[in-house]
Amino acid sequence: MSYVDNVISEIKKSSPAQVEFHQAATEVLNSLRPLLQKEPKYEKNKILERLVEPERQITFRVAWIDDKGEIQVNRGYRVQFNSAIGPYKGGLRLHPSVTTGTIKFLGFEQIFKNSLTGLAIGGAKGGAKFDPKGKSDNEIMRFCQAFMTELFRHVGPTVDVPAGDIGVGGREIGYMYGQYKRLTTSHDGVLTGKGINYGGSLARTEATGYGLVYFAEEMMNDRGNSLAGKICAVSGAGNVAIYTVDKLQQIGAKPVTVSDSRGMIHHAAGIDLAALRQTKEVERASLTRYLELCPDAKYIPVSEYPKGRNMVWSVPCFAAFPAATQNELNAADAAELLKNGCQCVSEGANMPSTLEAVDLILKAKIAFGPAKAANAGGVSTSQLEMAQNASMQQWSFEEVDQKLRGIMSGIFRNANETAKEFGEAGNLVLGANIAGFRKVADTMISLGVY
Ligand code: NDP
Repeated sequence: MSYVDNVISEIKKSSPAQVEFHQAATEVLNSLRPLLQKEPKYEKNKILERLVEPERQITFRVAWIDDKGEIQVNRGYRVQFNSAIGPYKGGLRLHPSVTTGTIKFLGFEQIFKNSLTGLAIGGAKGGAKFDPKGKSDNEIMRFCQAFMTELFRHVGPTVDVPAGDIGVGGREIGYMYGQYKRLTTSHDGVLTGKGINYGGSLARTEATGYGLVYFAEEMMNDRGNSLAGKICAVSGAGNVAIYTVDKLQQIGAKPVTVSDSRGMIHHAAGIDLAALRQTKEVERASLTRYLELCPDAKYIPVSEYPKGRNMVWSVPCFAAFPAATQNELNAADAAELLKNGCQCVSEGANMPSTLEAVDLILKAKIAFGPAKAANAGGVSTSQLEMAQNASMQQWSFEEVDQKLRGIMSGIFRNANETAKEFGEAGNLVLGANIAGFRKVADTMISLGVY
């Protein structure tokens, strides 16, 4: 059995239930094969065995009182995966589907993503199995305070700096940061995605979506094409999706879909950004509200999707931006996109495409931006927030946006050049994984066995 096969098989044996982590590790490790063959030092130093084992995993009780006066108990997580190149950095997810396997897959991906940004940040992820839907503002506050009451022991501005993810936006970061300050009396920017009044960075809210579009434009320009004037399909209706729609419209493309966990909107005239923000950011409502605001759009509830399909991907488009959640684009969806002439898939969500879907897309040789490269704009701008906090400065929106654009362009060049170096021009999955891995692995060797 080869080195890679051995490590994958050990992961499956030692943590059989963590299927999402198996999927992420299988993708990364498989694409490292050509590098591992060329450079025996990684096997000799047992880098893969060390890399797949988090440096530290913390699980903890989150007990809080709901509006009826009942005690609720949830499980909190922080997986500090790898700090070779810098302090741990990665978001917090609040969703009922969260398991150890979810947080581990996200933390593992984060190692390579953070390395690719060229910034000094290690990989981590956290969150809780908790459903924010239907909770009052006070309940969210009490939950976030209880969550931080344990998490504060494990984080710090040069140790671990969490951010938002699914279910964690500006409101939740504010409540968590408030509790951190009460517990430590310290205003040291230990979370990113903070409000502008208390240390947040301009353009952080927009960064993942904007960066995703900058990355897709880099891929298109490299192929002598552009997104301007093109129909685009976007899934999700949260932070990443909203600012993907925003930037696509700014560059003259036409996004026509968005979706949430209950259904999707197909708006052939083009998504109305103001109606989308009103629905999701102001009212926190379902997309049926968007339909009330824009009656010429079409709403399809999830109950009407054919089994095993995500209907967003059946809308003919030039470029697709999965920006909701993991495994939301499977092989059947990919085949439909390709049949309809799609030329670009750029991943806004983490691991939105199944392994089979990625295989099909890569074989078709259309542009494919893997999440760890294409959605790295969020974490990059989080690091810019850390830099502003450390120097007690606030940069302008334009300055942050310009830096973001430069970082996305650098990530594209790094992944693209690395793919060419290994004779796989255009395969950014391989390019991103090898480029991200090399920096972390070489650093681990320099730091001695740990
Ligand atoms: P939000 O919570 O703001 O939005 C998530 C969106 O996806 C919502 O519209 C939600 O619908 C939908 N969604 C979530 N779970 C499911 C599901 N199981 N099925 C269908 N739809 C679902 O999260 P973000 O926009 O921040 O994150 C989206 C993705 O982007 C995640 O994969 C995240 O890890 C990734 N990402 C986020 C970054 C950031 O800066 N925020 C940075 C890099 C990656 P509903 O409201 O109905 O639940």
